[in-house]
Amino acid sequence: MAAEIIDGKKIAEQYRAAIKASSAKFLVAHGRKPGLAVILAGDDAASAVYVKNKIAACEQADIYSSAYHLPANVSKSELLELIHMLNADIKIDGILVQLPLPKGINASEILAAIHPQKDVDGFSTTQAGNLMLGGECLAACTPAGCIELIKSTGIDITGKHAVVVGRSNIVGKPLALLLLQHHATVTVCHSKTVNLPAITKQADILVGAVGIKEFIKGDMIKKGAVVIDVGINRFDGKLYGDVEFESAVKKAFYITPVPGGVGPMTITMLLANTLKAACAIHNM
Ligand code: NAD
Repeated sequence: MAAEIIDGKKIAEQYRAAIKASSAKFLVAHGRKPGLAVILAGDDAASAVYVKNKIAACEQADIYSSAYHLPANVSKSELLELIHMLNADIKIDGILVQLPLPKGINASEILAAIHPQKDVDGFSTTQAGNLMLGGECLAACTPAGCIELIKSTGIDITGKHAVVVGRSNIVGKPLALLLLQHHATVTVCHSKTVNLPAITKQADILVGAVGIKEFIKGDMIKKGAVVIDVGINRFDGKLYGDVEFESAVKKAFYITPVPGGVGPMTITMLLANTLKAACAIHNM
């Protein structure tokens, strides 16, 4: 039996409708919409598309947005000045700096300048630290979206063996922490893991966040697993995941497609974090 497809687009639409309704309540209570500022520096084509999609998603969810497109030769001090201005802007609840930044600019230094309360990407030491400690936080958007997709299957995460392949600060590590919070038994695999298939085959929940086209094959998957494919790999003008869909769909019970799986939920969680940050500022 082929796996059931987890329709990230449809699930995202349902979430966005709920966010829109909450934004409307926020507007009534505070006379303004929740606000997101997005900063893009340079001419990376994929980044420009991501920013365009984020701004469009804000519009649909009745979230105020402002986009700042800076040239590739922008200086560190110009970027910091903009962030300081946005930190002080009462219309702005969330600030997102689209990565990668142009060569020569230290992303960590720029991201550290964002006020932690406005860090809707969840990359700051404060937000990542709060996640680590299991407290209230703005969790990184892609991992938060993965959790919602797993929950959408109706499967209880508690006690399941979740294997996350990838240990980046933006996906693998925060996702492992979120899965722990949901009481999964978590294994994190990475480029130095020995005998990866032996581990992935034990996973009730398997997440691919590697960045290698179709890296996880069907024979690495336990029958009946929930498979979440975070990968976005461009090849010959097409998008591919980190999971080989054709073979994986025969083993998994639930699987996310690429595109149309994790991607739409990532932007949705950005909207959710912006609303959450706005409410936190007003103690709502
Ligand atoms: P990254 O390059 O920062 O991290 C990749 C991870 O994979 C590393 O931790 C590395 O240890 C691990 N890895 C590499 N080779 C491996 C191997 N042979 N065996 C096991 N592990 C290996 O990438 P990232 O930023 O975490 O992104 C991962 C993928 O997810 C990329 O394809 C990226 O485009 C995609 N992504 C998608 C979204 C989305 O919204 N859908 C968001 C962020 C990232």
